[in-house]
Amino acid sequence: MKYFVAGNWKTHLTGSAASELAGQVLSHCDELGVAVFPPSLYAERVGQVLAGSSIGLGLQDISEQGQGATTGDICSEQALDVGCQFVLVGHSERRQRQGETNEWVAQKALAAVQAGLTPVVCVGETLEQRESGQQLAVVNAQLTPVLASLPAQASWMVAYEPVWAIGTGKTASAEQAQAMHNAIRAQLGESNMQSTKILYGGSVKAANAEELAECPDVDGALVGGAALKIDEFAAIVAAFREKK
Ligand code: PEP
Repeated sequence: MKYFVAGNWKTHLTGSAASELAGQVLSHCDELGVAVFPPSLYAERVGQVLAGSSIGLGLQDISEQGQGATTGDICSEQALDVGCQFVLVGHSERRQRQGETNEWVAQKALAAVQAGLTPVVCVGETLEQRESGQQLAVVNAQLTPVLASLPAQASWMVAYEPVWAIGTGKTASAEQAQAMHNAIRAQLGESNMQSTKILYGGSVKAANAEELAECPDVDGALVGGAALKIDEFAAIVAAFREKK
């Protein structure tokens, strides 16, 4: 798999609309390296639409614990049971709203890996942190406990998502994205994990996908808003397919 383009549907859509969008993804981009992350309630239903295709399926969060007394959570075993292969962990919306810490995110990533899921670990700095020049230190600190806990052969990915670019229409420039991805690649290299895919996320759309796909260290995209419009999503997939 040379690239990975994932649609994070967040809490958009109800059941029939989620099935419909899955059907559109199936007819426009049924290929290895494309995945969708529907609301967890509809993962099984979306999985049924995608059955037999090359499109991956994931949840937007996972418990760091197994089955047990963690009300409201979903554990890795349950994600696997409904056909998921992937899971997002540490999305900035969860770090902000649910108070997920770097250590907690690392525990989630480890639980996912141990169960056989591929976690996509989301990292990224706030606007305030970028404006004060802390972006490299912030992302480094977010990744440090993950690198310390995952086994060397783990299947996982990083999604660099500057918080100021998520859902705001502002995208990091190709230069800003490449600089951060290059720094992340160097940090991964210190743990012999330099081949781990690094996705960019933050207002990716058809209009900016090509220049992001041209960046040597941008291996794919995590797409929010534009993943809900099939023409946009298919164009983003096409940009990465052509450039990688
Ligand atoms: C996201 O939520 O992961 C994301 C990148 O959202 P958007 O593309 O809407 O900025």
